[in-house]
Amino acid sequence: MQIAQNSVVAFHYTLTNDEGEVLDSSEGREPLTYLHGAGNIIPGLEKELEGHAAGEKLNVSVSPEEGYGELQEQLMQEVPRDAFQGVESIEPGMQFQAQTQGGPLMVTVKKVEGDTVVVDGNHPLAGQKLNFDVEIAEVREASAEEVEHGHVHGEGGVEH
Ligand code: ZN
Repeated sequence: MQIAQNSVVAFHYTLTNDEGEVLDSSEGREPLTYLHGAGNIIPGLEKELEGHAAGEKLNVSVSPEEGYGELQEQLMQEVPRDAFQGVESIEPGMQFQAQTQGGPLMVTVKKVEGDTVVVDGNHPLAGQKLNFDVEIAEVREASAEEVEHGHVHGEGGVEH
């Protein structure tokens, strides 16, 4: 069966950047499972998987705008050290949940300069072209309940 709206798809992937660096991979893990057409995965990848079937392998290049977005300068912010109460030492690379007007946002510490901490609210993969090596493991039809919830249930999905 081919991947279409409301297919449940399980696939293995290796994600590399343009330098060939491996950023993420499902190797040695269960395949990633998602509900097709529900926005569970980045749009550029979802679009390219459409029409393919189990057993197929494909290479997909995803631009930032169809991936995790372009880098947004305004998401880089200087925060006073005092804002991190209860945190003994702050190092670049640490991640914190920040409360913003738009709701909670995951930020990464870029650098610490004296009493000022520079944090970045961009997704770590924002602004990057992403190359996925995909192998489709399984395609099945979603249940009515999965379609209603907008996500996969059972193996590789949400248990509830
Ligand atoms: Zn559910």
